[in-house]
Amino acid sequence: MMAEKGPKAKALAGGTDILVQLRGRRFFIDRLVDVKGVPEMNELSCSAEEGLTLGAAVPCYRIYEDDTIQSLYSGLVDAAFLIGGIQIQGRASVGGNLCNASPSGDTIPILIALGASCVIEGPKGSRTLPVEDFCTGPGQNVLQDGELLVALKFPPPAANSGAHYLRFIPRNEMDIAVAGAGASVVLEDDKETIKSARISLAAVGPTPIFAEEASELLAGRAASEGSFEAAAEAAKAAARPISDMRGTAKQRIHLSGVLTKRALREAVARAQG
Ligand SMILES: Cc1cc2nc3c(=O)[nH]c(=O)nc-3n(C[C@H](O)[C@H](O)[C@H](O)COP(=O)(O)OP(=O)(O)OC[C@H]3O[C@@H](n4cnc5c(N)ncnc54)[C@H](O)[C@@H]3O)c2cc1C
Repeated sequence: MMAEKGPKAKALAGGTDILVQLRGRRFFIDRLVDVKGVPEMNELSCSAEEGLTLGAAVPCYRIYEDDTIQSLYSGLVDAAFLIGGIQIQGRASVGGNLCNASPSGDTIPILIALGASCVIEGPKGSRTLPVEDFCTGPGQNVLQDGELLVALKFPPPAANSGAHYLRFIPRNEMDIAVAGAGASVVLEDDKETIKSARISLAAVGPTPIFAEEASELLAGRAASEGSFEAAAEAAKAAARPISDMRGTAKQRIHLSGVLTKRALREAVARAQG
């Protein structure tokens, strides 16, 4: 159905982005394909051994109401719980948040931090790619005509690992991030040394940013304020924000550092149990 209409077809998951955009006449299409009834897109399976398979159309509330996901992927729960309010969370999917490819999409940094990958199906077959390679520009992604994101796959959580996502908005809820940061860490058995880390930023570039240098410099360092500070400086250097009505580029760079530090502190606290 998607392939028949090429660029004039779009998927409908929760509709919380696309219905607003269509009503606002941001673009015109001939066909909306409701994917919520596709079984693979509603799959939600999670275990410590197999990791997490999150169907692309699974709404946010199913994520944060799942006890196993809460204990194994609490960083993802942070983001799912932030999207809009309770009504939006009843429909909005993580898959839709990613495919919408907004630089400020709240779930995308934690998907990157957790090392999730995209399972994509289309007329030419299936392919898998890391989430950090999915968004190509504001509102743009790698999907070709007829292709659908079917699921997101998360590796099983490593021993002594933790993750956290947080954002800055000028009011308590229902707003778009001025900046956001997601971090995941794996600690050594001593629980005081960082084995590896992944840091990702929202709303400070044309796409969500995987801050690779900030992530890599943490390997082998103490899980301490000094290390978090060093990573925060590297994250600030990776940010490429614009100034707009929500905030200036200068404020966003500052926030990238502050939020990176806070995300790392909480990720480490979770990893330490
Ligand atoms: C009041 C309100 C508050 C909001 N608050 C937030 C917030 O705090 N943080 C935030 O990040 N966002 C927020 N949003 C935006 C939106 O809710 C999220 O981006 C949401 O996760 C989108 O998911 P959806 O399932 O509704 O996507 P849809 O609107 O159904 O789809 C979004 C886009 O992705 C495409 N798409 C969807 N699924 C697939 C698929 N499987 N394969 C290929 N393409 C697909 C659609 O064609 C469309 O282009 C808010 C929206 C509203 C209306």
